[in-house]
Parts: sequence; structure tokens; C-alpha cells
Amino acid sequence: MTKVSLLGSTGSIGSQTLDVVRAEPERFEIVGLAAWSSVELLVEQAKEFRPDAVAIGRIDLVAELEKQVPPGTKVLAGEKAFEELSTVGDVVVNGVVGFAGLGVTLSALSAGKRLALANKESLIAAGPLVRPLRSVDGAELIPVDSEHCAIHQCLRGSSSNETYRHLAKLVLTASGGPFRGLKADELSAVTVDEALAHPTWSMGPKITVDSSTLMNKGLEVIEAHELFGVAYEDIEVVVHPESIVHSMATFTDGTTIAQLSEPDMRLPIAYALAFPERISTPFGAIDWGQTRALHFESPDRSTFRCLNLAYRAGEIGGTAPAWMNGANEAAVDFFLQGSISWSEISYSIEDALEKHDAQAADSVEAVIRADRRGRECVASYLSTRST
Ligand code: MG
Repeated sequence: MTKVSLLGSTGSIGSQTLDVVRAEPERFEIVGLAAWSSVELLVEQAKEFRPDAVAIGRIDLVAELEKQVPPGTKVLAGEKAFEELSTVGDVVVNGVVGFAGLGVTLSALSAGKRLALANKESLIAAGPLVRPLRSVDGAELIPVDSEHCAIHQCLRGSSSNETYRHLAKLVLTASGGPFRGLKADELSAVTVDEALAHPTWSMGPKITVDSSTLMNKGLEVIEAHELFGVAYEDIEVVVHPESIVHSMATFTDGTTIAQLSEPDMRLPIAYALAFPERISTPFGAIDWGQTRALHFESPDRSTFRCLNLAYRAGEIGGTAPAWMNGANEAAVDFFLQGSISWSEISYSIEDALEKHDAQAADSVEAVIRADRRGRECVASYLSTRST
């Protein structure tokens, strides 16, 4: 029985993780559930899965939660509670959205747990802090992001030394998002609803906007660099609108190995929970009796400018990815609130990145400061622009 502690249980990754647990209850057991503010859904989940403990991020909601959870369930509250629940069970699923997931990543690895990481931002912003924690006894980082799960599978066949000696490049696929094929002048007036209409994946609003700008792919390039230790020049992005090939590894003899399935996040979640085993319930299996065509094309980097910004931040290293990630989170929030246009997302991040003063990302404080400065730069870009 694998004991699972699930942080961010009421979001998109959280509910799909519970689907996987539901599919194989003899294999997985939920021991902890944590959500930021959705009390009602958290209570429902607690009643179904009967974890030892539940946590709510917003302290003002703790009384409401306590009244409703099944008797005997421990109730925790606040950000520290998330970190506490990150040290229990065999596998910790980090499904927290955005930079707020950093504490969960650091706590789970420090406690020597397997971390099923859906929160890419913590790895991107704090790569230099996460790296050494991966060698803590028992600690293991398995990506839940579909592209990185694919690469993890492509590199499985051989020992890591052998794989890396013969690896030529990683190829990350991108669906291209809802605006693929459009040019900058056609994108100046797009609405929030249009940006949220992703053609192949059903995800939360932040990542869906990131997909529409290709920032999601840019963040994933940094994530791949951190996870697999591959140089930026050896990480390629290719647009593949069908989202069937989830990513690839190309070797020095010209071989490319790819992982294929229908887009279904339950597959990478189950992979991270069960590795090195595989579960018996298929999620996203392809019906090869259906005729289908797969297309690949180079990304339009002059329209989808965020991709280059992410490569630039990654190459600078240190706190630059944290700074850029903070700027992006702020810009996406402003866009979702209707305060900036879709096109301004990339310009405000570029402006923020130009103001970055390179620092070593050698402490949580340095990373938090960079994240905050990135956000402030976007806010000040917005205020100068509107006067
Ligand atoms: Mg992804």
C-alpha cells in the first residue's frame, strides 16, 4: 500500500490524483489532504478518503473545517500546515498552484519523501535549492508534468550515466495553445475567455493562460534543465497540436524515443505514484484503429515571445528564473482581472527581466525576494503605462 499525502487536493491535479486513487484503492491510500480555501470540497474529499489529517491554507476557515470533518481527523491550518503534511506518507503530491508550492517541495525532499511534482514553479524558481535536496536519503523527485513524465520514461531504458553519454537532445512538445497560427496584430484584443479555451488539455486558469503565451513551455524548458541536467542549447521545443506525443529524447545515433498517449493527466500522476511499477488501469490509452495524423512545426517565437524570455532567464540562472516566474504570475493575474491585454503579458515580463540584478539563488530568502521583485516590476510597468 502506497500512502499518499496530497497538497492542493481541490485543484485540477488534486481531483485527478483522487481519481487515480479511486481507480486502485488496493494500491493507494490517502493519508493527508490540503487545500487553500475550498472547505466544502475538502470536507467531501475527507469523508470519502478518510485521511489522518487535513489542512486548510486560510487560517480564518479552520473553524468551519473543524465542524465538518469526520471525527478523528486531525485539522491543521496555515502555510506551515502544508509543510507539515509534506513530511507524511510515502509519496507527497505537490499540486499547489504557482510559487506558493515552494515550501511543499523543499519540505518533502528534506524529509526524504518521494515528491510527485506537479508544481513546476518551485523547481523553476528555486532550482539551486532543490538540487542538493534530491540526494537526501530516500528523497526522489518524479515529475507529474506530462512532458517531463514522457522524458522520464524515454530515459528509463538505461542507467543514467549511459543515457546521458548518448543523449543528444530533449524535445519538448507544445500544443501551441488556443492562439496557434495567429500573429501578434491578431492577438492584441483577445479576451480572457479566449485564452482559457485550451484546445486539448483541461487545466486550471493560470497554466491555461501560460499555455496561450507559450510561457508554460518556457517554464517547462527550465524545468527540464533542472530535472535532467541537460544544457539549454540541447532542449528543443516543437509545436504538436494533437498533444499525443508528450515529449521525446534524441540520442547521438539519430534515434528518437517518444512517449504517446491521449492527453490525460491521470497517466503522469499514476506514473509518479507507482514508479517503478505501473498501475493496471489505463488512462489515455490510444485506440490505434482510429485513423489519425500527427503534425509538428517550429514555434513562432516572434509572436509567442515568452518562450525566448524563459530561455533567457534560464541561461542567466541564479535568481533570474524566480524573478521571471514572479513577473509572469503577476502578469497573468493582471490579465485574468482584465487590467492588461494578452500582448502586454510578454512585454511586462520582458521589462521586469531587464531590471533583474543577478544574484545567486542560495537561500529561500533570496528566491522569495526575487519572486517579489519580479512581481513589483510588473505592477510598476502597469502603473507607468496607465498614466
Ligand atoms: Mg506540461
